[in-house]
Amino acid sequence: MIDHAHTLETFRMWIDGKPVDALTGATFESQNPYTGRPWAVLADGGSDDVDAAVSAARAALDGEWGSTTGFTRAALLRRVGDLITANAERLARLEVNDSGKLYREMLGQMNGLGSWFHYYAGLADKIEGRQIPSPNPNYLVYTRREPIGVIAAITPWNSPLMLLTWKLAPALAAGCSFVIKPSEHAPASTVAFAELFDQAGFPPGVINVVTGSSARTGAALAGHPGVDKVAFTGATSTGRRVALAAAENLNPVTLELGGKSPHIVFPDADLPAAANGIISGIFAATGQTCMAGSRLIVHESVHDELIRLITDRAATIKLGDPNDPDTEMGPVANAPQYEKVLHYLRTAENEGATVAYGGTAEHSLGGYFVKPTVLTGVGPESAIVREEVFGPVLSAYTFSDENEAIEFANDTPFGLAGAVWTTDVHRAHRVAAKVRAGTVWINAYRTVAPSVPFGGYGQSGIGRENGAEAIDAYTETKAVWVELSGGTRDPFVLG
Ligand code: NAD
Repeated sequence: MIDHAHTLETFRMWIDGKPVDALTGATFESQNPYTGRPWAVLADGGSDDVDAAVSAARAALDGEWGSTTGFTRAALLRRVGDLITANAERLARLEVNDSGKLYREMLGQMNGLGSWFHYYAGLADKIEGRQIPSPNPNYLVYTRREPIGVIAAITPWNSPLMLLTWKLAPALAAGCSFVIKPSEHAPASTVAFAELFDQAGFPPGVINVVTGSSARTGAALAGHPGVDKVAFTGATSTGRRVALAAAENLNPVTLELGGKSPHIVFPDADLPAAANGIISGIFAATGQTCMAGSRLIVHESVHDELIRLITDRAATIKLGDPNDPDTEMGPVANAPQYEKVLHYLRTAENEGATVAYGGTAEHSLGGYFVKPTVLTGVGPESAIVREEVFGPVLSAYTFSDENEAIEFANDTPFGLAGAVWTTDVHRAHRVAAKVRAGTVWINAYRTVAPSVPFGGYGQSGIGRENGAEAIDAYTETKAVWVELSGGTRDPFVLG
């Protein structure tokens, strides 16, 4: 029983255009990782609530939403994009309370989300089939691009609304409906977000949100027979379970999973620029991004100078209140994640890594703070180099020639992103082509856009989000054959 509920904000689930409690009446609390205290109460939805949400999403497709044109959907998407911008400050506050990420980062994200909806609004009325030449002149053949149907969207805690938007915007343009299950560690913003779709004029049932305190709610959704596709962002191990559950229904999946992305720094690189990019890749968002550049593969001749530049800057990073505009790194987002990061720091120490900076928790601030950490002297086979930490921990090791750099970069089960730092234009493109990753930045890091595909090779995922092709991931192609002669044909021969 929650005795301090009156001090907490309450967020109900959103099903069929209405705020609702869990059918059991159960609730759970969301913790603020900066204060270490609960700040919100949410409905603890279970499989019955998932059933109700899937039914509402199906009814929307069978009803008004299923017969909207791309032109209508474009207008709705433009409207919701504007509403998100108008509500950016409030949404950013909710995300900061839930995840401890910096207010200034989350406000930037929220202000950017509208552009995703505007971009896909521009495509919604251009989803075209084709008229296809038939070898038999008696047939007219054309294709229709139809929405796949009910999408189960399961999202992580690190940037809940941005990662949801990467699914929602293209799939709504295509005409799909949604049941969303946000992370139990950061659920509040998603419920507030759903209400904006109602205000924009999306019919009830197009967007449904089920919150829940455990993996059971997500599992019930991923394997639900009423779902037509599962779009998931989260850990690689969870993605595997989600894909197996979806496979029971032979449902397609889009999976955006973990990473261990490399920075390759050549001796001719602009080292201060590289150091700045590396800092942004591993210490922004406290390293809690799937695209974190957590491996530094640096030429042996510039290793010491680059490490000095990075550690000098790391030493000035201001840790503190995520709401303070001067803060550069907030806490790790939740207790299990904090324990995981500290576990990896101990592992690295046991593996013989040298701590060039950081390497411990920062207890003086309370909450779940970890110092920005730079490790050197690690081997390419060590756990700290092979496994995703999802925290502010950079592991550096050296190479001696270009082939070895590429070999090290690709020596990972992941393949989400990477960067090449060099001023040699020939080498830049040659190496970018050889890095097995869904995104490679040259002399840059951590930029994304609605128009640019994002996703991973290998265990970083299946499929791509963003870009015009993302609409294809939410449509089925139907071939329509029209008999033109009006006659009959031999029924025992394939025509
Ligand atoms: P997680 O895998 O623990 O949880 C993600 C979501 O899955 C949550 O909503 C959770 O409740 C749900 N879930 C858990 N078990 C489930 C199950 N058996 N069936 C269905 N759903 C289940 O991930 P997280 O800790 O919230 O997020 C961190 C991970 O996400 C990191 O590994 C990170 O790399 C990854 N990530 C990837 C991207 C990307 O775009 N590639 C982006 C952000 C985060």
